[in-house]
Amino acid sequence: MNTMDARDVIEVAKDICEKTGTRLTETRQHMLEVLFTVDTPKSAYELTDDYNRLVKSPIMAMSVYRILNFLASIKLVHHLHSINKYIICKHPIASSENQVPLFLICYSCQQIEEVAIAADLINALSEHAESSGFVSAGSQIELNSLCKKCQSNIHQHSHGDLNGQNPTNK
Ligand SMILES: [Zn+2]
Ligand SMILES: [Zn+2]
Repeated sequence: MNTMDARDVIEVAKDICEKTGTRLTETRQHMLEVLFTVDTPKSAYELTDDYNRLVKSPIMAMSVYRILNFLASIKLVHHLHSINKYIICKHPIASSENQVPLFLICYSCQQIEEVAIAADLINALSEHAESSGFVSAGSQIELNSLCKKCQSNIHQHSHGDLNGQNPTNK
């Protein structure tokens, strides 16, 4: 997927707001810029701190929740429910109806990779949920996983540990 830079994100946001009859207020725009700058998954409280550090006019956590909900509703921000954090969406809104986001969330460093998967997959999962009497509430999938970097770190560490455990073998 192509990624956008901060200016693109703002432009796309303005566009969506115009089309949906809402407005990209100054605070909403600042929040997008903050999310873009931090570029890692953050909780609403962490984002409140970041916002107040980066933007001159202070904001309350309550407003941050509202803004994040708004930005999530126009799909410029993703709420990762499994870790209760927010991340900016840098992918052009292709608004392809047959694709949904899959988030690979590294359980070690919380690095996130967003990839598009066929909506059919989530429909199939929803059917499973329904057959168990549940109603699926998600339009995205979050997968607990381990990123490449952390995989190689663990690999190196396990080697180090082995050497450490057997000093007499040398
Ligand atoms: Zn996205
Ligand atoms: Zn990792």
